[in-house]
Amino acid sequence: MAFAAERQVVRRTERMTGPRRFPEIPLVPTPASREARAVVGFKWAGEKVGRRHKLVGVPDWVQPPEVPECPLCKQTMTFYGQLDSVGDEMKIADVGMVYVFLCFDCYETKSVLQSG
Ligand SMILES: [Zn+2]
Repeated sequence: MAFAAERQVVRRTERMTGPRRFPEIPLVPTPASREARAVVGFKWAGEKVGRRHKLVGVPDWVQPPEVPECPLCKQTMTFYGQLDSVGDEMKIADVGMVYVFLCFDCYETKSVLQSG
C-alpha cells in the first residue's frame, strides 16, 4: 500500500506542469423558461453585472486577486472559470462572483467567493 502511494507521488511529480492559461470563453446565460428569465437581471446593478460568466482566460476579480495553491502539490492552481451573480433574487454577496480553480496535475479544485 505504501509503495503504491509512493509510486503515485512519483508519477504526479513527473507530469507536473503548473498553472495553465487558455483563451477566454465567455458564457452567456440562456434561461430556458419564463420562471428562469424572471430571476435573471438586476434593477440597480451596473451593466456588466450578471454578464461576467466565463470559462478560463483571466479572472475578473472584484476584489484583490486570491489565486489558491493546490492543497496536494502546492503549485498555483489554474483559473478554470467564474460564475457571476444571476439577478436581484440570486446575487452572490452583494453582486459578487465565484471563481473556480483547478490543478490539472492532481485534479483538485478550489473556489473563491468575492463580494462586489
Ligand atoms: Zn496539484
